[in-house]
Amino acid sequence: MSDAWTRRRERMVRTQIEARGVRDPNVLAALAAVPRHAFVPEAVRSLAYDDCPLPIGGGQTISQPYMVALMTEALGVGPGDRVLEVGTGSGYQAAILAEMGCRVHTVERDPALAEAAAQRLARLGYGQVSVHQGDGTLGWPDAAPYRGVVVTAGGPRVPGPLRDQLDPGGATLVMPVGGRGLQELLGVTRRGSRFSTEKLGGCRFVPLVGEEGW
Ligand code: SAM
Repeated sequence: MSDAWTRRRERMVRTQIEARGVRDPNVLAALAAVPRHAFVPEAVRSLAYDDCPLPIGGGQTISQPYMVALMTEALGVGPGDRVLEVGTGSGYQAAILAEMGCRVHTVERDPALAEAAAQRLARLGYGQVSVHQGDGTLGWPDAAPYRGVVVTAGGPRVPGPLRDQLDPGGATLVMPVGGRGLQELLGVTRRGSRFSTEKLGGCRFVPLVGEEGW
């Protein structure tokens, strides 16, 4: 029996994600499976499946569902791939990647958010996600290289350490780059020592704060 949350989630996938052109069946299935309402504060729970970012405390946000889907599809990762996320926030993006079968490392600079996300992910059955507290602009070298790196905060440039931690055998980084308020979503693909960059559209993310950020 599908409950009201499940029906809202299915509607979200249909009207906000598929309707805007996201096609990867793995991404769509993950968005339909992960209980987004469990990743947002009680006060905004009724808005969990709306077409917008939501506050999660500490001045931070959980990204708009479509943006999560777009960035995940652009990563091009699948089951068994090791993926790094910078900016754990609520843990929702990490759960989407885990639901797709990826081995996820996620780094959050805010200790309270990192702790809450680790507990939430474990409670929801995503205990295989490794949550680290620290400056994600330096990546997480201990588990490198990664087939995918997704940065969910906006920085002035792509941090060198994140490029270095991409798998030379073929990997993609997706990150908002630009000003503090408005950025361009970039997809950077690595093959060997060659890097190519693609522009994926405009976006608005909270600032990436750190040694290689703002
Ligand atoms: N991906 C998150 C989710 O699914 O809920 C949303 C991320 S929120 C838009 C951006 C996050 O990046 C914030 O939690 C912020 O604290 C974090 N952040 C900013 N700079 C960071 C850094 N240098 N290293 C790690 N996390 C950082």
